Amino acid sequence: MIRRGRIRALRPFKSGAAETFCIFEYIYFARPDSNLNGNNVYEYRKELGRVLAREHPVSADLVVPVLDSGNTAALGFAEESGIPYEQAMIRNHYVRRTFIEPAQSIRHFGVKVKHNAVSSILRGKRVVLVDDSIVRGTTLIKLVTMLRTAGAREVHLRISSPPTVGPCRYGIDTPTEDELIANQKTPAEICQALGADSLGYLSLEGLRTSAEPLKVGICDACFSHEYPVPVESTKAPPQLSLFLDVSEEHD
Ligand code: SF4
Repeated sequence: MIRRGRIRALRPFKSGAAETFCIFEYIYFARPDSNLNGNNVYEYRKELGRVLAREHPVSADLVVPVLDSGNTAALGFAEESGIPYEQAMIRNHYVRRTFIEPAQSIRHFGVKVKHNAVSSILRGKRVVLVDDSIVRGTTLIKLVTMLRTAGAREVHLRISSPPTVGPCRYGIDTPTEDELIANQKTPAEICQALGADSLGYLSLEGLRTSAEPLKVGICDACFSHEYPVPVESTKAPPQLSLFLDVSEEHD
């Protein structure tokens, strides 16, 4: 900190405090080609997809990712399950990010023009649709409808993280507790609300076990409500707009 021309070092944590790295960086925020703490993000996301396939197997014809957020986990799911991977939804890269739009109506519209389903691949097929997380459910409700309209016979949602139940208290711009669909509904109710035939989330245990090889302490408070640094207020702090730019499609 620089104040009145003097530099002061602030140390908010006691020396030797355990390091806890944001697991959402691995699951969603970071580019897949990043290496965090010496671990490759792409490889880790694929592993999450493999664990998800073991935890929630399903009979299906295709594994389809939500582009781009579910891309790598879907590859891992396909590999583990032996179900073919198809990019049966094409994404329009010229539409701006839906997560950061201020109004729900604009977010809905953004999702609609951003994705297109490929009917010739989907017609009559049982589809596993893979995404990294469900925050509000805005994107997935549209995508499930889109897949059905394109001819998919069944749509099974698989999510490569546990239900998102807690907002970030440390600066990441996540929605409030009230906006998180997993705080309002059970997984069965979410499945029904999104119009899917089944819904499977990665378990918290599965997430934690798969994070062990990362050899770094993790924060998974978004999924566990276990905040590693005490949170004084029940209200989230003012969000840093700096982080908004990485929140693409996180809806
Ligand atoms: S609360 Fe969630 S987004 Fe915030 S640091 Fe922890 S895991 Fe990351």
